[in-house]
Amino acid sequence: MTLTRQDAVALDAADPLAGFRSAVVIDDPDLIYLDGNSLGRLPSASLHVADHVVREEWGRGLVRSWQDWIDRPQQVGDLLAMHLLGAASGEVLICDSTTVNLYKLLAAVLDERPGRRVIVTDDDNFPTDRYVVQGLAAQRSLELRVIRADPVHGLSMRAIVEAVRDDVAVAAFSHVAYRSGALLDMAAVNAVAAGQGVRVVWDVAHSVGAVPVHLHDDGAELAVGCTYKYVNAGPGSPAFLYVRSDLQDRLRSPIWGWFGQRAQFEMAECYDPEPAVTRFGAGTPSVLGLALVAAGVRSLADVGIEALRAKSVALTSLVVDLADDWLAPLGFTVVTPRDPARRGGHVALAHRDAWPICRTLVEQRAVIPDFRAPDIVRVAPVPLYTRFVDVWDGLDRLRDLVASHAHVLAGTPSPPRVT
Ligand SMILES: *Cc1c(COP(=O)(O)O)cnc(C)c1O
Repeated sequence: MTLTRQDAVALDAADPLAGFRSAVVIDDPDLIYLDGNSLGRLPSASLHVADHVVREEWGRGLVRSWQDWIDRPQQVGDLLAMHLLGAASGEVLICDSTTVNLYKLLAAVLDERPGRRVIVTDDDNFPTDRYVVQGLAAQRSLELRVIRADPVHGLSMRAIVEAVRDDVAVAAFSHVAYRSGALLDMAAVNAVAAGQGVRVVWDVAHSVGAVPVHLHDDGAELAVGCTYKYVNAGPGSPAFLYVRSDLQDRLRSPIWGWFGQRAQFEMAECYDPEPAVTRFGAGTPSVLGLALVAAGVRSLADVGIEALRAKSVALTSLVVDLADDWLAPLGFTVVTPRDPARRGGHVALAHRDAWPICRTLVEQRAVIPDFRAPDIVRVAPVPLYTRFVDVWDGLDRLRDLVASHAHVLAGTPSPPRVT
């Protein structure tokens, strides 16, 4: 039997996390935001943090503030490591974008092991990851071995075992698949790779802040990710990279920047990188961005990632149940693993009219999911600020929209530049 709206309201009343919704800015109470896996909401505290950094640290402190700013990439990295990544202090650096960090870590491993001529990734990996890997393979004349991923369940261990052999230098995998939401078994993949002497660079952009990430316990050596999705640090906020401590003096960034230099302000003649994660820094970091990353991490740390995950599982399970009951008869298919332990924080719904449905849902019904070509509507009920009744109402509006053919009547202009 499907949950009634009353039941959803009751679930919210009993939700121990309900009070944390006020930790973010909710500008329009009627708007149902289901796209926090693309751009997280604004934490209320970030308004004050941004004001302080701009007005006091920059406006008043001027260049003197660099005494404090200089260590922030590592300090905020420590915060992220402790609360959301299961890594140790000194292993995470906030810098650059996920794309650039992925390039740096992959290139560092390739430089470390010139004898191995293969890079592995999969055909459903995030576009920027696939492009970076393609670029490195082309620039260095390496073989690119691309695993075929199942569009719903992601990578099978069998396919990984077949591809990750001892001719491979490095593999790039996403922990949670951006489209289907399939969650890869990080520990199992690392064990396979370690058995063949292969390093793996994990992209945790779609898992950090959504599912507990245990880099250390799961045997991860290297990882990258972004902070503007579930970590709520704002558009274009700086990304992070993780290098396990024992690898830090063995791997070198391909970008020999001054922010990686030992005793940076001695302005030495030659590059001599820090024997620490900071060696993967390149140029001057975004100080405002760093402050917002710290505020974003704190917005989640106050709740705790385990509690967030528990509510996220309940919310995504509700999406799946309502989709089966209401949306399957309208032509939707759930294309996310049904076992909550095998998925991240969002649910993908396939429909042949996914684009016009998404567009009219935003424009006419005040529900914001997102569209992923060619036929997917992604629904991310982010547990920090999404109520059970939001999921109920959001899917009810979606059901009504499609049942009444409003998306067809609205016409179908092609997608804009950003979906
Ligand atoms: C969002 C996302 C990115 C984005 O990379 P940027 O360099 O920040 O644009 C990369 N990888 C994954 C898996 C993502 O989900």
